[in-house]
Amino acid sequence: MKLKLSIAALAFTALGAQAAELNLYSARHYQTDEALYANFTKQTGIKINRIEGKEEELLERIKNEGANSPADVFLTVDAARLAQAHELGLFAPVTSKVLETRIPAHLRTDDWFSFSTRARVIVFNKASLKADDVQNYDDLANPKLKGKLCSRSGSHPYNLSLLSSIIANQGEAKAEEIARGMVSNFARAPKGGDTDQIKAVAAGECGVTISNTYYVARLMRSTKPEDQKTMEKIGVVWPNQKTTGTHINVSGGGMLKHAPNKTAAVKFLEYLVSDDAQRYFADGNNEWPVVESVKVANPALDTLGKFKADKLPVKNLAMYKAKAQIIYDRAGYK
Ligand code: FE
Repeated sequence: MKLKLSIAALAFTALGAQAAELNLYSARHYQTDEALYANFTKQTGIKINRIEGKEEELLERIKNEGANSPADVFLTVDAARLAQAHELGLFAPVTSKVLETRIPAHLRTDDWFSFSTRARVIVFNKASLKADDVQNYDDLANPKLKGKLCSRSGSHPYNLSLLSSIIANQGEAKAEEIARGMVSNFARAPKGGDTDQIKAVAAGECGVTISNTYYVARLMRSTKPEDQKTMEKIGVVWPNQKTTGTHINVSGGGMLKHAPNKTAAVKFLEYLVSDDAQRYFADGNNEWPVVESVKVANPALDTLGKFKADKLPVKNLAMYKAKAQIIYDRAGYK
């Protein structure tokens, strides 16, 4: 009897050891993520093996590994990219009461989930424009702003997701009119990232641009004198407050179809919506938690204040992504 028990115990330990691992492919790389993962291991005993890389590289790797992929969970930023992983058939559906109750319905799909949100705001040069000139995304197409608009590429997921939301809210024809109007307002051909646009606005090279909030928050929190000068020159507007609300995008992830450690994967996704994890996850990149009851004390986000967010389901952003690219191409939004 005694012997039997210890064999059972051994078998259990062996099984337990095998299950107590999670292979995470992540396109996120923030310092606070260390604490986020360490806390999960402390709570569950599940060790995290992390592979970090660029979104495209990780997607390519998961695709190539196919059924032999060791990847359990894939984390990345932007609804358009998460949608791409979905379209490639990389995710497995997850049914979880925890995920369903903690994440608002518009921020989840059947197989991928949002864990934090960021907003796409209008940033303007206070010497060149007034906040009243740029209250809505549509205003960026107003001929009054000729030669004043700077933008990153129209093929970038952030801009594709923004135009997808415009297609969903205002229709294709209006979206194309806005895209064309924006192109004719360009101060220069699209180049660089959001931070480059903000700096060009502050330098007076352009009068206005659009940026994700965490880039603004990073500059706000920076102690570098040049960043502080940049912030003195610019104003930030929450677009579409009287209509659909400001476009928001997400960081998120899901369990992979060939995940060898499915139980651990679901546990990890559920962990990411716990109060502590939500704080680490969102605050690490100056974003907002998706769980509404979780409050983050972030001085930059507090300064930016409250706003009305567009409640468009993230899966609709994904749905119009291809259409958005076609419209940008037709409009000459390079
Ligand atoms: Fe970014």
